[in-house]
Amino acid sequence: MNRSEILNVFNGAPAIIAGPCSIESGRQVMQLAGELSALGIRFLRGGAFKPRTSPDAFQGLGSEAIDYIRKAADRHDMYVVSEILDQDQLDQCYDKIDVIQIGSRNMASYGLLKIIGKKTAAGQKPVLLKRGFSATIGELLGAADYIRQKGNPNVWLCLRGIRTFEQIDSIFRFTPDLGSIVEIKQRSDLPVLYDPSHSTGDSKFVIPIAKAALQLGADGLLIETHNNPEKALTDGKQSVLPSALSALLDRDF
Ligand code: PEP
Ligand code: MN
Repeated sequence: MNRSEILNVFNGAPAIIAGPCSIESGRQVMQLAGELSALGIRFLRGGAFKPRTSPDAFQGLGSEAIDYIRKAADRHDMYVVSEILDQDQLDQCYDKIDVIQIGSRNMASYGLLKIIGKKTAAGQKPVLLKRGFSATIGELLGAADYIRQKGNPNVWLCLRGIRTFEQIDSIFRFTPDLGSIVEIKQRSDLPVLYDPSHSTGDSKFVIPIAKAALQLGADGLLIETHNNPEKALTDGKQSVLPSALSALLDRDF
């Protein structure tokens, strides 16, 4: 992504980032890229390195998956958004990822944030920084500053729900932190994206929460999308079909 495009990403319609939680095969991500780009979506997300609660759970296909998503994005003129968990992954995959994602669990890994800030300083590659699910807004903004102070101003904040007392009996996976969109807009000039997939944990809530986020001024959305959610290796319950996204693209709500 060149510099002038980065500066203009948030000037027009909200940026929609869509794709599977985990990249499962080259074929899967190629097919999704075709369907998403046909809807006008420019950002293809997909996890290659998955931060799972259990080390015994599927960890993602690793760098092989980055090759799959790169190929699919190039074929369909899209940008790659993917998470890295450590410096080795960053160095290994840097040139193939257009937007480096830092997940909720690493938001406060300050050593990693400094390394990423340094690495991205020259090219100003965007860094999508997700809110830690127990982090305050101040902590999120502080984490962004770790990256910015190393020389890269292009940090995209992404809200993804927080853990509260509601998880005792809520049917939501996390508590949607929609009000934080408005607060961050007051406290920071950074773009704010919203992830309705992880914040709800259920595909039937994804589109309504996404619409609410846009109404509140979110600059973009990150939405897990799968062609066969029941068969997804990770986060199928919260994954929507690509066709569901047209409800957001029409902006007729
Ligand atoms: C993801 O977006 O794939 C992800 C793992 O999300 P989070 O870091 O918000 O849990
Ligand atoms: Mn996921």
